[in-house]
Amino acid sequence: LGAARLGGPKTYAAAGGREASRPLLAMHGIARSFGTRSVLDDVSFTIGEGEILGLVGESGSGKSTIGRLIAGLDRPDAGLISLRGRDYSQPGSGGVLLQGDLRKAIQVVFQDPYASLNPRRRIEAILSDPFVIHGSIGKAELREKVKQLVADVELPEEILNRLPSQLSGGQRQRVAIARAIALRPSLIVADEPVSALDITTQAKVIRLLSRLRDKLGVSFLFISHDLGVIGELCDRVIVLEKGQIVETGQTRQVFRRPVHDYTRRLLASIP
Ligand code: ADP
Ligand code: MG
Repeated sequence: LGAARLGGPKTYAAAGGREASRPLLAMHGIARSFGTRSVLDDVSFTIGEGEILGLVGESGSGKSTIGRLIAGLDRPDAGLISLRGRDYSQPGSGGVLLQGDLRKAIQVVFQDPYASLNPRRRIEAILSDPFVIHGSIGKAELREKVKQLVADVELPEEILNRLPSQLSGGQRQRVAIARAIALRPSLIVADEPVSALDITTQAKVIRLLSRLRDKLGVSFLFISHDLGVIGELCDRVIVLEKGQIVETGQTRQVFRRPVHDYTRRLLASIP
């Protein structure tokens, strides 16, 4: 990993920035405080269809708060968040997305899949859940869908009979990714999804995410404190410092010509 291998993600950039036409997701003027502490201040950005947008910043800069707001797990104090032009930032706001629609459209993958995978359920049951919860489905079809998911994330079928504890960290994260793509969401918020993995496994999971974008056209908000990892995967990057966006641009450009001191410090910390 690291800047040395920054070949640049091709698909999105080659398309000349599909984001320009109509964003998949838009955040506008978002503010969020906890008590008297302002955590996000006037944050605005968009994510394009099929785009992988990186969000980088030091620990405590507000990255996960942005992820939770986009996933609908938290509400902003001010500002708008919309998916394909439909605002869902406030309950009762015009054209608000139904909670069920939002769940299907936006999925989250967290740093520690252990925390989000039920330790008592086998992988087959875990991967069946999305299909069972969001509609009636026959047993044979369910089995086929689950097998396809396992193939999509390049895991062997024998893991279906295992419990999360019987998998490696990388395999567990692949299961969490498989569950996230089950209902073909438009956007996956991946909050430090490779930060707990060793460097070789990180590289493999990053390549998987890149292939899934190409294959499914799904967009990602890829959150990481590690600018090196962002450089491997993301089309564009947003740099967050203390709850404010200090720099944004094509990843390649930000690596070559960082504008902000904070970005230069993050770049300098890449091994
Ligand atoms: P990051 O993901 O970049 O490390 P977070 O978004 O998790 O940052 O947190 C940003 C700041 O907001 C931190 O100072 C954190 O303590 C604070 N914070 C986040 N969530 C809450 C909450 N529910 N209540 C109080 N403070 C919070
Ligand atoms: Mg975080």
